[in-house]
Amino acid sequence: MQPPIRIGLVGVGKIARDQHIPCIAAHSEFKLLAVASRHNVIEGVASYSSLEQMLAGAPELDAVAICTPPQVHYEAAKLVLGSGRHVLMEKPPCASLGQLDNLVRLAKASGCSLYQTWHSQHARAVEPALRLLEQRKVRRVHITWKEDVRRWHPGQEWLWQPGGFGVFDPGMNALSILTKLISEPIYPQTAQLFVPANRSAPIAAEIELRTDSGIEIHASFDFRETGPQRWNIDLDTDGDAMHLSAGGGHLTLGEQPVPADPGSLDAEYAAIYRRFYDLIARGESDVDTRPLQLVSDIFLVAKQIPVQSFEY
Ligand code: NAP
Repeated sequence: MQPPIRIGLVGVGKIARDQHIPCIAAHSEFKLLAVASRHNVIEGVASYSSLEQMLAGAPELDAVAICTPPQVHYEAAKLVLGSGRHVLMEKPPCASLGQLDNLVRLAKASGCSLYQTWHSQHARAVEPALRLLEQRKVRRVHITWKEDVRRWHPGQEWLWQPGGFGVFDPGMNALSILTKLISEPIYPQTAQLFVPANRSAPIAAEIELRTDSGIEIHASFDFRETGPQRWNIDLDTDGDAMHLSAGGGHLTLGEQPVPADPGSLDAEYAAIYRRFYDLIARGESDVDTRPLQLVSDIFLVAKQIPVQSFEY
């Protein structure tokens, strides 16, 4: 049996605690050796106050999971790749496509694996939806991604700062499923971004997109949803309508629920760590730039509309 991959983690916030740390503990192929955090220590794990200190202080590390906000992903990934370790990076990848392209180049040059994760692509109903679409032609797509920012992102000021993406932080999850389901290029036609007067990033967005073959896509993102939380993708096809809900966790075809694959009952992050292990074993990287490309294109065509200030 291969020795476990000795992994460090930078940024001990919500996603690190909710998913990465428990997931690493549950996978015998990985061992959490160290964390880098400005404010936190994890019991039983070497804790450093910066990434630089962790890389220098734990020379036996094989890999690092980057769980910080996107504004600081690029510098962190550069440091880790430069030190000869593999990188697993949370979404959204970086503050720009240029940064992501350069990380791909640096990973290749270093011989290390770079895995840009999109956790929603591993949601249980996404693969079954993809298979159903092999026999169907999509005509229209309607995305509704509406959640309460106070409930899901309490106090996360970075979301509202430049490079934080605002409502596109969760909205990009929908776009990552969309680009997985629709392989042809997708182009935004119009977009309205609703930006609070006291913030730099949108709190809501209405977007029209198209493909060359004529698929019409509408996306509606909103951080102000206090009622039922909705993470839905509806696909009109030349057959029965498909309805993905719960962020890609459930699928219905017409009125009928489509069961998930028996082998795919794992949570999204378990699939992510399995994939990271395989990539390292094969000496490969996996970077899907399409969701960030789409967001970047949306911002290029968008009209910004000022709305009421937002406070937590
Ligand atoms: P968070 O709770 O705010 O945690 C981020 C952590 O990163 C902070 O606690 C902080 O940890 C560290 N950090 C380093 N530089 C920072 C900076 N300049 N500003 C703020 N924090 C900084 O955020 P999160 O929800 O874990 O999200 C982190 C990443 O995971 C984001 O890219 C997000 O999109 C992604 N993600 C989040 C979720 C979710 O449900 N929350 C789901 C999927 C993906 P230290 O104090 O330890 O340094």
